[in-house]
Amino acid sequence: MRDDDLRSVCFLTLDALRAQHGDELPYKDVLARGFTWRNRRVPFLNGQKGIYRAAAQTGPAALSVMTSVNSPYDDEETPDGFLYAYRAGSVEGADNRALLEAHHLQVPIVYYVGTRPGRFHTMYPTYVAENLPSERRVRLEPGRRTPMGSPRPFEDVVERRYAVVERRVRLHQSRFRGIVLPAYDHRCTICALREERLLDAAHIVGDVEERGQAVVPNGVSLCSIHHRAFDQDLIGISPDYDVHVSRALMEDEDGPMLEVLKRFHRQRIHLPSRPSQRPDRERLAVRFERFSTAG
Ligand SMILES: [Zn+2]
Repeated sequence: MRDDDLRSVCFLTLDALRAQHGDELPYKDVLARGFTWRNRRVPFLNGQKGIYRAAAQTGPAALSVMTSVNSPYDDEETPDGFLYAYRAGSVEGADNRALLEAHHLQVPIVYYVGTRPGRFHTMYPTYVAENLPSERRVRLEPGRRTPMGSPRPFEDVVERRYAVVERRVRLHQSRFRGIVLPAYDHRCTICALREERLLDAAHIVGDVEERGQAVVPNGVSLCSIHHRAFDQDLIGISPDYDVHVSRALMEDEDGPMLEVLKRFHRQRIHLPSRPSQRPDRERLAVRFERFSTAG
């Protein structure tokens, strides 16, 4: 009735995929493969429509809902979760019934949000916490996992609100990555590494500061090691797009890994081909000031 076993296998498979690819999962070759449950292949979602119940399920409730990258404005973020619109048409339609059954049965589902074509940020366990029939929407809220991994709703309102904040921050980070990485042709701006699983979108000016907006000119694409070094002010990028390595690191002599950092000193970064997507020099100046003071 609740398909608890199938839902658990779905979540555990997503855990493994996120350990490999991060929060933002590619559809092609990854989500498109689905998961295996009782020797059957079960799709994770339906890329064409929002509300999805798998054919392998015996219960009536949806397995997942999805906000498409093409229609992000139908759904809305609030401090209490995400408002998710019914499918157009009758409330008695199969999809809307599956959505409302997820509310009645209080089963955990997955919420996929398109961050760019072919990529989905994934959030689970998610509960359909409230039905808002006059708005034709439901409120989705995050659940938690027990130490053994079983999904549960939050009972404590403070913990739940904290989880909502955390999910919104991670979703924004995925969306930021989704605009910054393509601008840099999926390469590290310092070393040109082209392995998407090791690339992040780093803010130049932090998102809580003035001018810290999540726009491409406030971002750079960096591999994990250069991102960490940039965050720690061991590497800086000057407003004229040169890499600077901190004096402490330059004077240090300790093996080949350090060379990964030192060899780019005074080299120009790889820039997006479109001038409008290049890092904003004023923001770089603010950040470079911090680097120079730290070094
Ligand atoms: Zn790099």
